[in-house]
Amino acid sequence: MKSWVESANLPGCDFPLENLPYGVFSHAGSRRIGVAIGDQVLDLRGCADGGVPKALSPELTAACSQDTLNSLMALGGGAWSPLRRDLTAILNSNAEARIQQKVKQHLIPMREVEMQLPAQIGDYTDFYASIHHATRVGKLFRPDNPLLPNYKYVPIGYHGRASSMVVSGTDVRRPSGQTKPATTAEPVFSPSRSVDYELEIGIFVGPGNALGKPVPIAEAEEHIFGLCLVNDWSARDIQSWEYQPLGPFLAKSFATTISPWVVTLDALKPYRVAAAERSKEDPSLLSYLAQGDSLAAVDVTVEVFLQSQHMRERGIGAVRLSRGNLRDLYWSVAQLLTHHASNGCNLRPGDLLATGTISGPEEQSEGCLLEMKHRSSPITLPAGETRTFLQDGDEVTLRAYCERPGLPRIGFGECVGRILPALAT
Ligand code: CA
Repeated sequence: MKSWVESANLPGCDFPLENLPYGVFSHAGSRRIGVAIGDQVLDLRGCADGGVPKALSPELTAACSQDTLNSLMALGGGAWSPLRRDLTAILNSNAEARIQQKVKQHLIPMREVEMQLPAQIGDYTDFYASIHHATRVGKLFRPDNPLLPNYKYVPIGYHGRASSMVVSGTDVRRPSGQTKPATTAEPVFSPSRSVDYELEIGIFVGPGNALGKPVPIAEAEEHIFGLCLVNDWSARDIQSWEYQPLGPFLAKSFATTISPWVVTLDALKPYRVAAAERSKEDPSLLSYLAQGDSLAAVDVTVEVFLQSQHMRERGIGAVRLSRGNLRDLYWSVAQLLTHHASNGCNLRPGDLLATGTISGPEEQSEGCLLEMKHRSSPITLPAGETRTFLQDGDEVTLRAYCERPGLPRIGFGECVGRILPALAT
Protein backbone atom coordinates (compact mmCIF):
# COMPACT_ATOMS: atom_id res chain seq x y z
CA MET A 1 0.00 0.00 0.00
CA LYS A 2 1.13 3.54 -0.72
CA SER A 3 -0.06 6.76 0.86
CA TRP A 4 -0.45 10.13 -0.84
CA VAL A 5 1.45 11.46 2.19
CA GLU A 6 4.81 10.92 0.47
CA SER A 7 6.94 10.77 3.65
CA ALA A 8 4.99 7.66 4.72
CA ASN A 9 6.41 5.71 1.76
CA LEU A 10 10.09 6.39 2.49
CA PRO A 11 12.19 3.35 3.42
CA GLY A 12 12.87 3.13 7.16
CA CYS A 13 9.84 5.29 8.03
CA ASP A 14 8.25 4.18 11.33
CA PHE A 15 4.78 5.31 10.32
CA PRO A 16 3.73 3.98 6.89
CA LEU A 17 0.08 3.54 5.94
CA GLU A 18 0.09 0.04 7.45
CA ASN A 19 0.86 1.36 10.96
CA LEU A 20 -1.43 4.30 11.89
CA PRO A 21 -0.65 4.47 15.63
CA TYR A 22 -2.71 6.72 17.91
CA GLY A 23 -1.38 9.44 20.19
CA VAL A 24 -2.27 12.73 21.85
CA PHE A 25 -0.63 15.97 20.80
CA SER A 26 -0.70 19.68 21.65
CA HIS A 27 -0.77 22.26 18.91
CA ALA A 28 -1.81 25.91 18.88
CA GLY A 29 -3.10 25.74 22.43
CA SER A 30 -5.28 22.67 22.15
CA ARG A 31 -4.77 19.03 22.98
CA ARG A 32 -6.11 16.45 20.55
CA ILE A 33 -5.99 12.84 19.43
CA GLY A 34 -3.87 12.23 16.36
CA VAL A 35 -2.71 9.45 14.08
CA ALA A 36 0.90 9.31 12.84
CA ILE A 37 1.40 9.06 9.07
CA GLY A 38 4.93 9.60 7.74
CA ASP A 39 6.24 12.83 9.25
CA GLN A 40 2.69 14.18 9.74
CA VAL A 41 0.01 13.95 12.40
CA LEU A 42 -3.60 13.59 11.32
CA ASP A 43 -5.84 15.57 13.67
CA LEU A 44 -8.74 13.23 14.45
CA ARG A 45 -10.93 15.84 16.08
CA GLY A 46 -10.52 18.04 13.03
CA CYS A 47 -11.53 15.09 10.87
CA ALA A 48 -14.52 14.22 13.06
CA ASP A 49 -15.71 17.85 13.15
CA GLY A 50 -15.25 18.19 9.40
CA GLY A 51 -17.12 14.96 8.64
CA VAL A 52 -14.01 13.52 6.92
CA PRO A 53 -14.25 11.32 5.05
CA LYS A 54 -17.85 10.68 6.08
CA ALA A 55 -19.73 10.98 9.33
CA LEU A 56 -18.37 8.65 12.03
CA SER A 57 -20.78 7.02 14.46
CA PRO A 58 -21.78 9.38 17.30
CA GLU A 59 -19.77 7.33 19.80
CA LEU A 60 -16.63 7.38 17.62
CA THR A 61 -17.03 11.12 16.96
CA ALA A 62 -17.23 11.70 20.71
CA ALA A 63 -14.25 9.42 21.45
CA CYS A 64 -12.06 11.00 18.75
CA SER A 65 -12.82 14.49 20.10
CA GLN A 66 -11.40 13.81 23.59
CA ASP A 67 -7.96 14.90 24.76
CA THR A 68 -6.94 11.39 25.88
CA LEU A 69 -7.37 7.99 24.23
CA ASN A 70 -9.31 6.48 27.16
CA SER A 71 -12.76 6.75 25.53
CA LEU A 72 -11.53 5.31 22.25
CA MET A 73 -9.77 2.52 24.15
CA ALA A 74 -13.02 1.71 25.97
CA LEU A 75 -14.99 1.20 22.74
CA GLY A 76 -13.26 -2.04 21.72
CA GLY A 77 -12.52 -3.74 18.43
CA GLY A 78 -16.04 -3.23 17.07
CA ALA A 79 -15.28 0.49 16.85
CA TRP A 80 -11.51 0.36 16.24
CA SER A 81 -11.71 -1.75 13.08
CA PRO A 82 -14.06 0.49 11.06
CA LEU A 83 -12.08 3.56 12.15
CA ARG A 84 -8.83 1.94 11.00
CA ARG A 85 -10.47 0.94 7.71
CA ASP A 86 -11.68 4.53 7.10
CA LEU A 87 -8.31 6.06 8.01
CA THR A 88 -6.51 3.62 5.71
CA ALA A 89 -8.87 4.51 2.86
CA ILE A 90 -8.58 8.29 3.17
CA LEU A 91 -4.76 8.22 3.43
CA ASN A 92 -4.29 5.68 0.63
CA SER A 93 -2.79 6.97 -2.61
CA ASN A 94 -5.87 5.70 -4.43
CA ALA A 95 -8.21 7.99 -2.42
CA GLU A 96 -10.14 10.45 -4.60
CA ALA A 97 -8.45 13.84 -5.08
CA ARG A 98 -11.48 15.53 -3.47
CA ILE A 99 -10.96 13.47 -0.28
CA GLN A 100 -7.20 14.04 -0.25
CA GLN A 101 -7.86 17.77 -0.46
CA LYS A 102 -10.23 17.66 2.53
CA VAL A 103 -7.93 15.45 4.65
CA LYS A 104 -4.87 17.60 3.91
CA GLN A 105 -6.40 20.41 5.97
CA HIS A 106 -6.14 18.21 9.06
CA LEU A 107 -2.47 17.22 8.69
CA ILE A 108 0.08 18.91 10.93
CA PRO A 109 3.86 18.38 10.58
CA MET A 110 5.07 16.22 13.47
CA ARG A 111 7.89 18.67 14.25
CA GLU A 112 5.29 21.35 15.08
CA VAL A 113 3.40 19.37 17.69
CA GLU A 114 4.24 18.46 21.26
CA MET A 115 3.36 14.90 22.14
CA GLN A 116 1.57 14.13 25.42
CA LEU A 117 0.87 10.98 27.41
CA PRO A 118 -1.60 9.06 25.22
CA ALA A 119 -4.00 8.23 28.01
CA GLN A 120 -4.86 9.00 31.57
CA ILE A 121 -3.18 5.98 33.11
CA GLY A 122 -5.22 4.90 36.12
CA ASP A 123 -3.07 1.95 37.13
CA TYR A 124 0.32 0.69 36.05
CA THR A 125 1.61 -2.84 36.59
CA ASP A 126 5.07 -4.09 35.70
CA PHE A 127 5.81 -7.76 35.02
CA TYR A 128 9.00 -9.83 34.81
CA ALA A 129 8.19 -11.82 31.67
CA SER A 130 11.67 -12.33 30.19
CA ILE A 131 13.17 -15.57 31.43
CA HIS A 132 16.57 -14.45 30.10
CA HIS A 133 16.39 -11.28 32.20
CA ALA A 134 15.16 -13.17 35.26
CA THR A 135 17.92 -15.77 34.88
CA ARG A 136 20.75 -13.27 34.38
CA VAL A 137 19.65 -11.06 37.28
CA GLY A 138 19.00 -14.15 39.45
CA LYS A 139 22.54 -15.37 38.78
CA LEU A 140 24.00 -12.23 40.34
CA PHE A 141 22.40 -13.25 43.65
CA ARG A 142 22.08 -17.06 43.33
CA PRO A 143 24.66 -18.35 40.83
CA ASP A 144 23.60 -21.99 41.23
CA ASN A 145 19.86 -21.47 41.30
CA PRO A 146 18.99 -18.27 39.44
CA LEU A 147 15.26 -18.82 38.81
CA LEU A 148 12.94 -18.91 41.79
CA PRO A 149 10.66 -21.99 41.94
CA ASN A 150 7.52 -20.02 41.00
CA TYR A 151 8.88 -18.49 37.78
CA LYS A 152 7.61 -21.03 35.25
CA TYR A 153 4.15 -21.23 36.85
CA VAL A 154 3.12 -17.67 37.62
CA PRO A 155 3.75 -14.39 35.74
CA ILE A 156 5.56 -12.31 38.38
CA GLY A 157 4.59 -8.64 38.65
CA TYR A 158 4.20 -5.71 41.01
CA HIS A 159 1.97 -2.66 41.14
CA GLY A 160 3.84 0.37 39.82
CA ARG A 161 3.18 4.07 40.15
CA ALA A 162 1.00 5.82 37.55
CA SER A 163 1.48 9.44 38.73
CA SER A 164 5.15 9.56 37.74
CA MET A 165 4.71 8.20 34.21
CA VAL A 166 6.03 10.73 31.71
CA VAL A 167 6.05 10.98 27.95
CA SER A 168 9.20 10.60 25.85
CA GLY A 169 11.38 13.70 25.88
CA THR A 170 10.80 14.52 29.55
CA ASP A 171 13.99 14.89 31.59
CA VAL A 172 14.45 12.50 34.51
CA ARG A 173 15.90 13.77 37.78
CA ARG A 174 18.39 11.44 39.46
CA PRO A 175 16.55 10.27 42.60
CA SER A 176 17.85 10.40 46.13
CA GLY A 177 17.03 7.65 48.55
CA GLN A 178 18.07 5.37 51.31
CA THR A 179 20.86 2.98 50.45
CA LYS A 180 23.19 0.73 52.42
CA PRO A 181 26.67 0.88 50.89
CA ALA A 182 28.85 -2.15 51.65
CA THR A 183 31.45 0.23 53.11
CA THR A 184 29.24 1.78 55.83
CA ALA A 185 27.70 0.21 58.92
CA GLU A 186 24.48 2.24 58.66
CA PRO A 187 22.32 3.21 55.68
CA VAL A 188 22.63 6.70 54.20
CA PHE A 189 20.26 9.06 52.36
CA SER A 190 21.94 10.36 49.21
CA PRO A 191 21.62 10.62 45.42
CA SER A 192 21.46 7.17 43.82
CA ARG A 193 24.77 6.03 42.35
CA SER A 194 23.31 3.29 40.20
CA VAL A 195 20.52 4.63 38.01
CA ASP A 196 19.64 2.15 35.26
CA TYR A 197 17.15 1.91 32.40
CA GLU A 198 14.91 -1.07 31.61
CA LEU A 199 13.85 -1.74 28.01
CA GLU A 200 10.20 -2.83 28.03
CA ILE A 201 7.02 -2.88 25.99
CA GLY A 202 3.80 -1.47 27.47
CA ILE A 203 0.34 -2.93 26.90
CA PHE A 204 -2.54 -0.43 26.94
CA VAL A 205 -5.80 -1.92 28.19
CA GLY A 206 -8.83 -1.32 25.96
CA PRO A 207 -12.25 -2.32 27.31
CA GLY A 208 -11.92 -3.25 30.97
CA ASN A 209 -13.42 -6.11 32.95
CA ALA A 210 -15.92 -5.79 35.79
CA LEU A 211 -14.63 -6.20 39.33
CA GLY A 212 -14.86 -9.87 40.26
CA LYS A 213 -14.98 -11.06 36.63
CA PRO A 214 -11.76 -12.62 35.29
CA VAL A 215 -10.82 -12.47 31.59
CA PRO A 216 -10.56 -15.90 29.88
CA ILE A 217 -7.30 -16.33 27.98
CA ALA A 218 -9.14 -16.71 24.64
CA GLU A 219 -10.66 -13.21 25.13
CA ALA A 220 -7.58 -11.48 26.55
CA GLU A 221 -6.53 -9.73 23.34
CA GLU A 222 -9.99 -8.17 22.94
CA HIS A 223 -9.00 -6.15 26.02
CA ILE A 224 -5.76 -4.85 24.50
CA PHE A 225 -5.78 -1.56 22.57
CA GLY A 226 -2.12 -1.52 21.59
CA LEU A 227 1.54 -1.44 22.55
CA CYS A 228 4.13 1.27 23.26
CA LEU A 229 7.72 1.49 24.52
CA VAL A 230 8.43 1.75 28.24
CA ASN A 231 11.62 2.72 30.07
CA ASP A 232 11.28 1.61 33.69
CA TRP A 233 14.06 3.74 35.22
CA SER A 234 15.51 1.91 38.23
CA ALA A 235 17.82 2.98 41.06
CA ARG A 236 19.61 -0.29 41.81
CA ASP A 237 21.21 0.79 45.10
CA ILE A 238 17.86 1.95 46.51
CA GLN A 239 16.26 -1.22 45.14
CA SER A 240 18.70 -3.66 46.72
CA TRP A 241 18.23 -2.14 50.19
CA GLU A 242 14.41 -1.78 50.09
CA TYR A 243 13.08 -4.66 47.96
CA GLN A 244 12.74 -7.35 50.61
CA PRO A 245 10.14 -8.41 51.60
CA LEU A 246 7.56 -6.45 49.55
CA GLY A 247 9.30 -5.78 46.21
CA PRO A 248 10.28 -2.58 44.38
CA PHE A 249 9.04 0.75 45.75
CA LEU A 250 10.96 4.06 45.63
CA ALA A 251 13.66 2.54 43.41
CA LYS A 252 11.16 2.57 40.55
CA SER A 253 8.49 5.19 41.29
CA PHE A 254 10.55 8.33 40.60
CA ALA A 255 9.84 8.15 36.84
CA THR A 256 8.74 5.81 34.06
CA THR A 257 8.97 7.05 30.48
CA ILE A 258 6.68 5.86 27.67
CA SER A 259 6.65 6.51 23.93
CA PRO A 260 3.78 8.72 22.71
CA TRP A 261 2.44 6.54 19.87
CA VAL A 262 0.33 3.44 20.59
CA VAL A 263 0.69 0.78 17.90
CA THR A 264 -2.53 -1.21 17.66
CA LEU A 265 -2.78 -5.01 17.71
CA ASP A 266 -4.46 -4.69 14.29
CA ALA A 267 -1.30 -3.10 12.88
CA LEU A 268 0.84 -5.79 14.51
CA LYS A 269 -1.21 -8.68 13.12
CA PRO A 270 1.10 -9.48 10.16
CA TYR A 271 4.04 -9.81 12.58
CA ARG A 272 2.50 -12.41 14.90
CA VAL A 273 4.61 -15.51 15.51
CA ALA A 274 4.54 -18.61 17.67
CA ALA A 275 5.51 -18.11 21.30
CA ALA A 276 9.06 -19.08 22.32
CA GLU A 277 9.09 -22.83 22.89
CA ARG A 278 8.97 -23.96 26.51
CA SER A 279 11.70 -26.41 27.32
CA LYS A 280 10.85 -30.12 27.70
CA GLU A 281 11.54 -29.99 31.45
CA ASP A 282 9.21 -27.02 32.00
CA PRO A 283 6.02 -27.71 33.96
CA SER A 284 2.75 -27.69 32.01
CA LEU A 285 0.76 -24.49 32.30
CA LEU A 286 -2.21 -24.25 34.61
CA SER A 287 -5.24 -24.31 32.35
CA TYR A 288 -6.30 -20.65 32.82
CA LEU A 289 -2.97 -19.62 31.23
CA ALA A 290 -2.93 -22.24 28.46
CA GLN A 291 -3.22 -20.27 25.24
CA GLY A 292 -4.50 -22.19 22.23
CA ASP A 293 -3.35 -19.40 19.91
CA SER A 294 -0.58 -20.62 17.60
CA LEU A 295 0.55 -17.00 17.08
CA ALA A 296 0.70 -15.87 20.69
CA ALA A 297 3.85 -13.76 20.36
CA VAL A 298 4.72 -10.65 18.35
CA ASP A 299 7.98 -10.27 16.43
CA VAL A 300 9.10 -6.81 17.55
CA THR A 301 12.79 -5.88 17.58
CA VAL A 302 13.60 -3.65 20.56
CA GLU A 303 16.77 -1.59 20.94
CA VAL A 304 18.51 0.68 23.46
CA PHE A 305 20.81 3.57 22.52
CA LEU A 306 22.94 5.75 24.80
CA GLN A 307 24.48 9.17 24.21
CA SER A 308 26.52 10.78 26.98
CA GLN A 309 26.88 14.52 27.43
CA HIS A 310 30.52 14.18 26.36
CA MET A 311 29.40 12.47 23.12
CA ARG A 312 26.75 15.11 22.49
CA GLU A 313 29.25 17.93 22.92
CA ARG A 314 31.56 16.29 20.37
CA GLY A 315 28.80 15.54 17.88
CA ILE A 316 29.08 11.75 18.38
CA GLY A 317 25.78 9.99 17.73
CA ALA A 318 24.10 7.62 20.20
CA VAL A 319 25.57 4.13 20.40
CA ARG A 320 23.45 0.96 20.52
CA LEU A 321 23.83 -0.97 23.77
CA SER A 322 21.45 -3.85 23.09
CA ARG A 323 18.98 -5.41 20.73
CA GLY A 324 16.32 -7.93 21.75
CA ASN A 325 12.91 -9.16 20.63
CA LEU A 326 9.48 -9.18 22.24
CA ARG A 327 8.96 -12.74 20.93
CA ASP A 328 11.57 -14.05 23.39
CA LEU A 329 9.35 -13.44 26.42
CA TYR A 330 8.35 -16.44 28.53
CA TRP A 331 4.81 -15.05 28.95
CA SER A 332 2.66 -13.59 26.14
CA VAL A 333 0.80 -10.29 26.43
CA ALA A 334 -2.48 -12.26 26.63
CA GLN A 335 -1.16 -14.38 29.50
CA LEU A 336 -0.06 -11.27 31.40
CA LEU A 337 -3.50 -9.68 31.05
CA THR A 338 -5.43 -12.84 31.93
CA HIS A 339 -3.23 -13.52 34.93
CA HIS A 340 -3.70 -9.92 36.16
CA ALA A 341 -7.49 -10.29 36.08
CA SER A 342 -7.54 -13.92 37.27
CA ASN A 343 -8.33 -12.98 40.88
CA GLY A 344 -11.18 -10.72 39.75
CA CYS A 345 -9.06 -7.55 39.74
CA ASN A 346 -10.68 -5.07 37.37
CA LEU A 347 -8.60 -3.53 34.59
CA ARG A 348 -9.78 -0.23 33.15
CA PRO A 349 -9.37 1.48 29.76
CA GLY A 350 -6.00 3.26 29.72
CA ASP A 351 -4.38 1.06 32.38
CA LEU A 352 -0.85 0.12 31.39
CA LEU A 353 0.79 -3.27 31.87
CA ALA A 354 4.50 -3.51 31.08
CA THR A 355 6.32 -6.69 30.14
CA GLY A 356 9.39 -6.21 32.32
CA THR A 357 12.90 -5.91 30.91
CA ILE A 358 13.13 -7.60 27.51
CA SER A 359 16.36 -9.56 27.15
CA GLY A 360 17.45 -12.31 24.84
CA PRO A 361 19.71 -15.29 25.47
CA GLU A 362 22.80 -13.85 23.77
CA GLU A 363 25.25 -11.13 24.83
CA GLN A 364 24.30 -7.71 23.36
CA SER A 365 20.65 -8.47 24.09
CA GLU A 366 20.61 -7.47 27.77
CA GLY A 367 17.74 -5.03 28.33
CA CYS A 368 19.35 -3.14 31.25
CA LEU A 369 22.81 -2.23 32.55
CA LEU A 370 22.52 -4.42 35.67
CA GLU A 371 22.46 -7.51 33.46
CA MET A 372 25.72 -6.51 31.79
CA LYS A 373 27.55 -6.99 35.10
CA HIS A 374 28.41 -10.54 34.06
CA ARG A 375 30.56 -9.16 31.23
CA SER A 376 34.28 -9.21 31.80
CA SER A 377 34.71 -5.44 31.29
CA PRO A 378 32.45 -2.39 31.67
CA ILE A 379 30.75 -0.87 28.64
CA THR A 380 33.08 1.40 26.69
CA LEU A 381 31.53 4.31 24.79
CA PRO A 382 32.95 5.65 21.49
CA ALA A 383 34.91 8.50 23.12
CA GLY A 384 36.54 6.15 25.64
CA GLU A 385 34.19 6.70 28.58
CA THR A 386 33.01 3.63 30.48
CA ARG A 387 29.66 2.90 32.09
CA THR A 388 28.47 0.60 34.85
CA PHE A 389 25.37 2.70 35.49
CA LEU A 390 24.03 5.98 34.04
CA GLN A 391 25.81 9.28 34.59
CA ASP A 392 24.20 12.74 34.68
CA GLY A 393 23.62 14.00 31.15
CA ASP A 394 23.26 10.49 29.70
CA GLU A 395 20.37 10.24 27.25
CA VAL A 396 18.72 6.84 26.76
CA THR A 397 16.65 6.18 23.63
CA LEU A 398 14.50 3.08 23.16
CA ARG A 399 13.30 2.08 19.68
CA ALA A 400 11.19 -0.79 18.38
CA TYR A 401 10.09 -1.97 14.97
CA CYS A 402 8.63 -4.92 13.06
CA GLU A 403 10.27 -6.14 9.88
CA ARG A 404 9.50 -9.14 7.74
CA PRO A 405 10.34 -10.09 4.15
CA GLY A 406 7.53 -8.98 1.85
CA LEU A 407 6.00 -6.68 4.45
CA PRO A 408 6.58 -2.99 5.16
CA ARG A 409 8.53 -2.06 8.26
CA ILE A 410 6.42 -0.49 10.98
CA GLY A 411 7.97 1.30 13.95
CA PHE A 412 7.08 2.49 17.42
CA GLY A 413 8.92 5.83 17.22
CA GLU A 414 11.17 6.68 20.15
CA CYS A 415 11.14 6.69 23.94
CA VAL A 416 13.77 9.19 25.10
CA GLY A 417 14.89 10.44 28.51
CA ARG A 418 17.91 12.31 29.83
CA ILE A 419 19.28 12.07 33.38
CA LEU A 420 19.51 15.38 35.25
CA PRO A 421 21.73 15.81 38.36
CA ALA A 422 20.12 15.07 41.72
CA LEU A 423 18.79 17.93 43.82
CA ALA A 424 20.92 18.78 46.85
CA THR A 425 20.00 16.58 49.82
CA1 CA B 1 10.77 -3.32 35.09
